[in-house]
Amino acid sequence: MDLHQKTQELNKKLEIISSRGKDLPFELVEHLEVLDRAVDQILNLLDTALEPRKAPVVVPEPLSASCLAPSNDIRVLLVEDNMVNRKLAMLILERVGCEVHVAENGAEGVEKFKVGGYEAIFMDCQMPVMDGYEATLAIRKLEAGTSSHIPIIAVTANAMKGDKEKCLECGMDDYISKPILPNDLQSAVNRWCSVNA
Ligand code: MN
Repeated sequence: MDLHQKTQELNKKLEIISSRGKDLPFELVEHLEVLDRAVDQILNLLDTALEPRKAPVVVPEPLSASCLAPSNDIRVLLVEDNMVNRKLAMLILERVGCEVHVAENGAEGVEKFKVGGYEAIFMDCQMPVMDGYEATLAIRKLEAGTSSHIPIIAVTANAMKGDKEKCLECGMDDYISKPILPNDLQSAVNRWCSVNA
């Protein structure tokens, strides 16, 4: 079985289901729950293939206010409309030490960005309501006149020539291609987040 082809087929079917709107009959919701658990099981099996996170160097220091911070996780925002990609990216990001918050479209992503507290944003490009390009433009507009610039990493299925340029033009900093690979996400986190902070 070709895993890539199989997951692409599954993706297409899920896209069809998600495009049918929110009023799902109860039986369908039940089936989706079962599918959700099955996907979780598959991800857990795949998990063993992921590289273990490098152990951070622990420097002993006296107890101070900074030690009482609630978490030293890297907080990132994942903006992705596709359920399977969202689950996969979340699982990988959590494995590499991130606390992941999710948004299911660009507009939701911009709202969560406004609340703040993220070190980076992983942004899908094709999304309903507001796509990743528009969302990035909106975020850069909000940052205009301030000294802040949140790293935005495009996660896109478009392998077309010129797509990378389009991402950079609208204010994204980096670019990852789908299918989402653990190593690609890990290197992006290493490049853009304070992994060793
Ligand atoms: Mn999408």
